[in-house]
Amino acid sequence: MYVELAQDFKGTSFGEEASEILGKCVHCGFCTATCPTYQLLGDELDGPRGRIYLVKQLLESAEASETTRLHLDRCLTCRSCETTCPSGVNYGRLIELARPKVEALFQRPRFQRLQRWLLVRFLLSTWFGVLFRFGQIIRPALPQSLARHVLEKRPVGLRPKSQGDRSVLMLEGCVQPSMAPQINAAAQRVLAKLDVNVITANKAGCCGALPLHLADSDRALNSMRRNIDAWWPQIEKGVDAIVMTASGCGVTVREYGQLLKDDPAYAEKAARVSSMTVDLCEYISPEDARGLGSCSGKRVAFHSPCTLQHGQGIRGRIESILESAGAILTPVQNTHLCCGAAGTYSVLQPELSSKLLDNKLSDLGQGDPEFIATANIGCLAHLASRSDPPVRHWIELIDPAALD
Ligand code: SF4
Ligand code: SF4
Repeated sequence: MYVELAQDFKGTSFGEEASEILGKCVHCGFCTATCPTYQLLGDELDGPRGRIYLVKQLLESAEASETTRLHLDRCLTCRSCETTCPSGVNYGRLIELARPKVEALFQRPRFQRLQRWLLVRFLLSTWFGVLFRFGQIIRPALPQSLARHVLEKRPVGLRPKSQGDRSVLMLEGCVQPSMAPQINAAAQRVLAKLDVNVITANKAGCCGALPLHLADSDRALNSMRRNIDAWWPQIEKGVDAIVMTASGCGVTVREYGQLLKDDPAYAEKAARVSSMTVDLCEYISPEDARGLGSCSGKRVAFHSPCTLQHGQGIRGRIESILESAGAILTPVQNTHLCCGAAGTYSVLQPELSSKLLDNKLSDLGQGDPEFIATANIGCLAHLASRSDPPVRHWIELIDPAALD
């Protein structure tokens, strides 16, 4: 696809990077068939090829409109289109570049700006944790419509230290420690069983994904710099890896090198951080899981988050780990499709998100599972809000000290 850059974008890193990505698109439309929003809405502009054309228009005119914003907003950034694309179009990066430009060129209505501003600040504040924990206490008294959005409080258990030679850094995350602290605790127990010591850097926090998806690039990049500073002393001491227990964080930290490439103070460190980052399932092998956990003989449906399968290209690994631990995996259709969680999408696009959730739960429920397992806190909370079978992070199912 040829792009004649508008004068405003000529010679800018935005213009060059975006037109290079667009240049790979051959308009074949293969991606359209696997796009969840196209499947629901049937509008070319709600599929990847249509959105690519909207970004092309933006690059050529240096203008955006209500149409540009509407269809870009409806994109889940699930990156299913990237997996399908035969030409290697990096759609995720393209939309990441385009969204802040749309914000700058075509101002949102005041209410939407306020909603986004509050959302990112609330989710990243200590208030979120306080209110969430309070919500868990009063959950039994809440009406069903509210209670289903509050994850049930589950036992956390101990976080043992290992005396082994290997050490890893683990990102605790921003919302996960409040919503489901048992996940990081279970990860630490499993790693301790494998003689791996877990180090958490107190000053590390949000990976930057939340503000990045809401086009707040400055805030996102500052979160990334803060995490790099927090991890750097341990990296210099020789930790083995930086382990992510949420695939939504993993996909972002893996991109730190790309996102901070123009920052001379952080570019090199960011590239090192990205190269050391792994999802928890890459650090634990299926052999390691043999004989661990409580899922032996249990029927489990696995939901692979988009950030795991499309964003990081990790497919089949967790399924192998669960099988190795004795779980019986039940059949799931349309595994490539998003559940509708997608960061803050469920708040900002509730109708589309709700339809995707219904479809996903129906696909996951086909084999009558006793548990649904997943690998990202956002998907877990979204699925749990309407699922009959309990929804767990997969590491909870191979936790040697399974607590219930
Ligand atoms: S990222 Fe997902 S929702 Fe967005 S265009 Fe690609 S497939 Fe469609
Ligand atoms: S599949 Fe790839 S090359 Fe084809 S239209 Fe989609 S993004 Fe462009």
